[in-house]
Amino acid sequence: MTIPFFDGHNDTLLRLAEAPGDQEGLFIKGNGTGHIDLPRAKAAGMAGGFFAMFPPPLKSNLAAVANSPGLSPELPPELAVADALASTNGMASVLFRLERAGALAVCRTAAEIRAAMAEAQLAAIFHIEGAEAIDTDFRSLDVLYAAGLRSIGITWSRANAFGTGVPFRHNMDPDIGPGLSEAGKELVRVCNQLGVMIDLSHLNAAGFRDVAAVSTHPLVATHSNVHAICPHARNLVDWQLAAIRDTGGMVGLNFATGFLRPDGKFTVDTEIELMVRHVDALVEALGEDGVALGSDFDGAQMPAPIGDVTGVPKLLQALLDKGYGQELVGKIALGNWLRMVETVIG
Ligand SMILES: [Zn+2]
Repeated sequence: MTIPFFDGHNDTLLRLAEAPGDQEGLFIKGNGTGHIDLPRAKAAGMAGGFFAMFPPPLKSNLAAVANSPGLSPELPPELAVADALASTNGMASVLFRLERAGALAVCRTAAEIRAAMAEAQLAAIFHIEGAEAIDTDFRSLDVLYAAGLRSIGITWSRANAFGTGVPFRHNMDPDIGPGLSEAGKELVRVCNQLGVMIDLSHLNAAGFRDVAAVSTHPLVATHSNVHAICPHARNLVDWQLAAIRDTGGMVGLNFATGFLRPDGKFTVDTEIELMVRHVDALVEALGEDGVALGSDFDGAQMPAPIGDVTGVPKLLQALLDKGYGQELVGKIALGNWLRMVETVIG
């Protein structure tokens, strides 16, 4: 029997928004490309997830970004608010057209996720990856929130008006660059009040400390792994995991090969056993309520045994085979995200 799961991060909206032709049809019918479409999501038991809107420069080629990591010591250039807003509008439009077509439900609370699941509807949380589309007066935040935005990664791996991200670099500590700006701290406070989750993935160490100091919510990293196993700047070092645990927070396991492998290589020749090792370490560091999934589907290279969303049951089976009980696997797959959404967003 398929275990239902909720995923902390995908970049499917960007893939669709950049595709020529019938973008909604590409998701609803699927054509075998990319990692998530509706038929494969249903077959895999995907109940829903955080659908990221990652604003690239409008003419960007995401593949160029995805293929450059590992080596680049530099942060990608900053993005203007207007460009980020235009790009975000494009991805949000795809999301809401999919909802109108009945392909998914945009959920604003845990209760709405449960209702969608009861009707076998894919539940989507509106997430932005990098707050570039938000002006420092938070005008666009008001509009995006009204549209359904419920989760914000303050930075992608670059700097913006609110904070600074970590570069895509292996053998690097995330402690690089300055912390949050005053606007960044205010963004955290405003999001606390609104019930918008703050996502720590991609943020540098000083920014992480500032969020921990300012935020009244549990600390959450939607798609990051264990630095002690894979010392990539994108992964979490011991004190960050301890800080997350102290707040009753959570981490979603990132499936990207370069964030899993001790050697930091982006190669599909990566075993599920290595994913289980990260889950083991996350459970050890955070407890059974602190670990979930955060695949990075459609935004990163997947291990060959996973391939796409239909490979998730293999990971869950590997956890069962390792001796994780049904109850714990159910928490990692679904229960922990539902509880966190309920706690932070409502
Ligand atoms: Zn990401």
